[in-house]
Amino acid sequence: MSETAQPTHPDPAGRQLLSLRADCANCFGLCCVVPAFAASADFAIDKRAGQPCPNLQQDFRCGIHTTLRDRGFPGCTVYDCFGAGQHIAQVTFGGRDWRAHPDTRAEMFAAFTVMRHLHELLWYLTESLTLAAASPVHADLRRALARTELLTRGDAGSLVEVDVDRHRQEVNVLLLRVSELVRAKIPGRRLDRRGADLVGADLRTTDLRGAHLRGSLLIGADLRGADLRNADLIGADLRGADLRGADLSASVFLTQFQVNAARGDLSTTLPAALTRPPHWPRTRTPASRGTAATRDASVTRDARARRDTTATRDTSAARSGRTTRTGAGAGTTSTDQPTRPKHPRR
Ligand code: SF4
Repeated sequence: MSETAQPTHPDPAGRQLLSLRADCANCFGLCCVVPAFAASADFAIDKRAGQPCPNLQQDFRCGIHTTLRDRGFPGCTVYDCFGAGQHIAQVTFGGRDWRAHPDTRAEMFAAFTVMRHLHELLWYLTESLTLAAASPVHADLRRALARTELLTRGDAGSLVEVDVDRHRQEVNVLLLRVSELVRAKIPGRRLDRRGADLVGADLRTTDLRGAHLRGSLLIGADLRGADLRNADLIGADLRGADLRGADLSASVFLTQFQVNAARGDLSTTLPAALTRPPHWPRTRTPASRGTAATRDASVTRDARARRDTTATRDTSAARSGRTTRTGAGAGTTSTDQPTRPKHPRR
């Protein structure tokens, strides 16, 4: 059971999207073992790649699941492996876990890293197929989806040989085209802030419809009441961003872990495939669209510090399974691909 409830979706592609969610009950705690993390605002401790977190129990459940934030592990509450964990555990390794079968460890951990990348691409490709605006490239998207699914069906040895970066770049060309098509639905000038440093920016009630925000740093940004429909948010770092009253109902390439890393409440409108994080207040704040409120400077300061300490990515380690897990949100690389934060285990 993940921390977020499973939503429903009105169309088949959307329902397929929902299957690309972490199912921790069928995983071997891979996201609590494989990546490294550094003591920071997101994690209370340092942990080496491949070393089990001390809070991971023998049954692969988290011993502090209900108090992760209080115990200094907020980075664990925002992660989603896009279903890669249960795929590796139950399909690739047929239910043989790394504790009972230590000979599987190295290959399983390396394969998980690759699978996580592939499942993330499946998410974006599947989402793209739900978008009517992207219909001119639906055939190409279906082919890319089939190629990616084929890669995920390989055995562990095949998986670790996958050239993830190359495949990601090929898919990214398509995703950029999808982004163009979706954003073109918004007439007039559309903000292009791809990769921009918008840390702590005051974007209250801003019309960001159709904005190009790929890989932008929106850490601690004030987005209260902002209209982000048709905005491309792939890889945007939303840690601590204030989304109260914001409309993200038609934002594209937004993931659950980006939402989990931000602040919001009942006045935040999310896409159908995403759920309201349980740690968000179940109230509507006075800071909804069209209103002004006092800026929470501490969020920005803390977010800036976290950006400096955690926005790292060890791409060279992808093949070996040595990964560096960032905190909440998502860093980006030259191809705008998000990195991985952490997901709560039961
Ligand atoms: S959820 Fe976080 S704290 Fe819990 S076992 Fe996993 S890595 Fe450790």
